[in-house]
This record gives sequence, C-alpha cells and structure tokens, in this order.
Amino acid sequence: MEFREVYCMNCKKVLGRYNVKFYSEDKIGELMKSTHSSHIREGHQVNIRKFVKD
Ligand SMILES: [Zn+2]
Repeated sequence: MEFREVYCMNCKKVLGRYNVKFYSEDKIGELMKSTHSSHIREGHQVNIRKFVKD
C-alpha cells in the first residue's frame, strides 16, 4: 500500500499518513490547511513524502 506521509521538520514527527487510495493530493492539501494548520502558522516546514508499506 502506498501512503503520503505528512512530516513536520521542526517537530521531527509524522503528523499523519494517508492512503493514496482514499486521499487525493487535493484532500491532503485541505488537511494541511485544517488539521495541520497550527504547524504551518508557526512557520514550521511541513513536507509530504511518499511512504510505501506492504
Ligand atoms: Zn511542527
């Protein structure tokens, strides 16, 4: 299964992993602005990276 992993460089932690089957890039973009917005507001560097798990 393939996931997109939302990772905060400043907090050094994974904020969420989203299965690409259920979450489009747009959907993840929305989550960045809602669920994870506190990190972005504080100027944290939040990256999205690919995460593959069998
Ligand atoms: Zn953060």
